[in-house]
Amino acid sequence: MKIAVVGTGYVGLVTGTCFAETGNTVTCVDIDQEKVKKLQNGKITIYEPGLEQLFERNIKQERLFFTTNLAEGIKDAKIIFLALPTPPGEDGSADLKYILKVASDLGPILSDYTVIIDKSTVPVGTADKVRDRIAANAKVEFDVVSNPEFLREGVAVEDFMKPDRVVIGTNSPRARKIMEALYAPYVRQGNPIIFMDERSAELTKYAANSFLATKITFMNEIANLCELVGADVDSVRRGVGTDSRIGKRFLFPGIGYGGSCFPKDVQALAKSASDVKYDFRILNAVMDVNEDQKTRLIERIKTHFKGNLKGKTIAFWGLSFKPHTDDIREAPSLYNIEALLSEGVTIRAHDPEAIENVKRIVGDKIGYFDTPYDAAEGADAIFIATEWPEFRTPDFEKLSGLLKSKVIFDGRNLYDLSNMKELGYTYFSIGREVIN
Ligand code: NAD
Repeated sequence: MKIAVVGTGYVGLVTGTCFAETGNTVTCVDIDQEKVKKLQNGKITIYEPGLEQLFERNIKQERLFFTTNLAEGIKDAKIIFLALPTPPGEDGSADLKYILKVASDLGPILSDYTVIIDKSTVPVGTADKVRDRIAANAKVEFDVVSNPEFLREGVAVEDFMKPDRVVIGTNSPRARKIMEALYAPYVRQGNPIIFMDERSAELTKYAANSFLATKITFMNEIANLCELVGADVDSVRRGVGTDSRIGKRFLFPGIGYGGSCFPKDVQALAKSASDVKYDFRILNAVMDVNEDQKTRLIERIKTHFKGNLKGKTIAFWGLSFKPHTDDIREAPSLYNIEALLSEGVTIRAHDPEAIENVKRIVGDKIGYFDTPYDAAEGADAIFIATEWPEFRTPDFEKLSGLLKSKVIFDGRNLYDLSNMKELGYTYFSIGREVIN
């Protein structure tokens, strides 16, 4: 099938590449000329494990193309995906200007029956708006389908190639048949394609992300309570997670959720609810708790250094919002860096993939280092913001020789408490005993 993907960011590039991988011919369209130029030259623009190999193979086999020209990109395409940004607007609702602009542009240039698919995360009712925009100028038949994306950055290729489920919102039998054929190679193991109406599909994505954000936030509150009552959140987590109704995943406490999806999607769902006069109280609480959780370790750092952080140096391990990605959108690291800088702390940062993206925002206000050990040299403490695997078993002996004082503030609970005690570290983590 000939497919166009409009918007070539994290979702668009993975979507385009993975559809090319099963034999479709895909053209990815983006207005960012620099990005498209790079992609046309065979240079990948994001870090996503496993993607580069597929990207290179499909370009070589002439199934994957890039352009800045929408009309050229959609020429002969039977299917057009919209993988465009839906950032929060001023009132917290999802800003649809990118989607609606492309929808308006598409109307006059469609030349045959086409299925236009919202892959972006969009509020209930967006498919109707997209349909109206296209219909205003279209001379041919078309269908608008809602097909929200559930991939996780860091394992996006795996998620796309073998999704837990595919959700498709459409009432059109014609579009349904095309969507079924398109996704058939990805659900061969029997995972379901769940068909529903467009509104339900749109809401499903927000419900999923908001539920996951709520689950993390609930565990963060349990962790905070553990600290006050002398319980251990790791034990509690194992105790509750083995209940199959609760499940083991998404129960790890930390310094709050971040990323390009959870914060904006929770906010947008709360706003959608309030638009129809429904006060979604849980979500308001989730947002409040998460806001505080992001900088929870800062109070501990201040107390440890007796309120005087001026002149201290902190090695900052991890900048991306989670491991295996270079994405730093809404990363808790950025909030902590800002808080520490405002206290006069010198920051020496290391991240395996995200340094270039952080440099664009934070610039030379902090130092950047190639290894976690280089970052630790001469530091008064280490702050761990992201659970990259390489931080899990560092050479503590080497580290002890580099640090000015053996203190770790761990926002991701990476280390065993008894081990830290044995090694003689002062160790603060989330929801667990302080080792001093
Ligand atoms: P992104 O910012 O990485 O990519 C969006 C791309 O769209 C950018 O490259 C931008 O230049 C391009 N663009 C903007 N206007 C355009 C136009 N008029 N024509 C062509 N291209 C245009 O965003 P993303 O992370 O890929 O997210 C896209 C959507 O998918 C959002 O709604 C997001 O909520 C949703 N989503 C994201 C993830 C994720 O993990 N990132 C997962 C599931 C769903």
